[in-house]
Amino acid sequence: MSFTSRLVSWYEANRRPLPWRENPTPYRVLVSEVMLQQTQAPRAAVYFQRFVDRFPDFPSLAEAHPDEVLKLWEGLGYYSRARNLHATAKIVAAREDGAFPCTYEAIAALPGVGPYTAGAVAALALGLDHPAVDANVERVLSRTHDIDVPIKERQGRERVRELAAALLPPGRAGDFFQGLMELGEVVCRPKNPDCGLCPVADLCQARHLDIVAERPVRTKGKTITPITVATAVFRHQGLFFIQRRRPGGAWGNLWEFPGGRVEPGEAPEDAAVRELFEETGFTARIEAPLGVIRHGYTTYRVTLYCYLLTPTDPGLPGRPEPSLTAAVESRWTSLADLDGLAFPAGHRKLIDSMRTDLRFF
Ligand code: SF4
Repeated sequence: MSFTSRLVSWYEANRRPLPWRENPTPYRVLVSEVMLQQTQAPRAAVYFQRFVDRFPDFPSLAEAHPDEVLKLWEGLGYYSRARNLHATAKIVAAREDGAFPCTYEAIAALPGVGPYTAGAVAALALGLDHPAVDANVERVLSRTHDIDVPIKERQGRERVRELAAALLPPGRAGDFFQGLMELGEVVCRPKNPDCGLCPVADLCQARHLDIVAERPVRTKGKTITPITVATAVFRHQGLFFIQRRRPGGAWGNLWEFPGGRVEPGEAPEDAAVRELFEETGFTARIEAPLGVIRHGYTTYRVTLYCYLLTPTDPGLPGRPEPSLTAAVESRWTSLADLDGLAFPAGHRKLIDSMRTDLRFF
């Protein structure tokens, strides 16, 4: 049996029952692929089911309030993906026939849809003979076919894409690429691949050459930039002040506590007081520290110094109006009501820790 046939047969016998594999409509495949871009399948499956239960198709997602879409996405990160998915739903719902585009080029023109996602939807949902090359496919093919150039650089990507197109079995592109992805996720893992369980082990060049650990060839490591931020949880008369970020950027339209970078030589608590004033006009003093929260992203690591602040003016009326300089909207809210809104991951960790803090009961 050829490499391709073995892989398709192995996939048919071993595929995990992931929810998007039932009824793989363009909508369900697109939602799952967008979620899977930065998330492992078991975790994505939980989010996927909740998302499609609430928004089962493009028209229902198109009509959704942006807050609800972001809330269902909270915890997956990379919120521009949710915003783009929402924009795509509106485009599809507004088409004259309401139908999803049926060519790779038209799919790739949708908001936030890159070559991989367009290929995956074309192959998995529409049955088109189009390669769908994600990181798992790159890793497996770089090992089985000994691709000896960095896989994330132009030459490496082209080699993988050409190979994927050449191997693609006409009419079975969906099963073939899902087989490669599945193999990459459960057997040919980045570290400690389980070659004893691999259906193409005897065809794998990296295994024959005993260079599995050297494939794929990696580009030099990314620099992780540390960022130190002060966060101001401003409480007045039992309510907390939150604001909604401007649109755009990684956390556009999400809610947050005021805050920002700690300047060189500045104490984090001073930065919290300063940031609150600069972003809202409120003058406050530190009431108590709320701890330090760390959160890692792809290229930077954020350390949040969090403080509870109280107004310096004891006569400040309830729910005072801010002068917003870094946000488009604000609210005074109870701790319980924060659960219904979408926050960046670091602030969500802070809210979770506040919920177990006796000072807030
Ligand atoms: Fe990956 Fe090992 Fe299979 Fe080669 S033999 S494809 S390295 S699991």
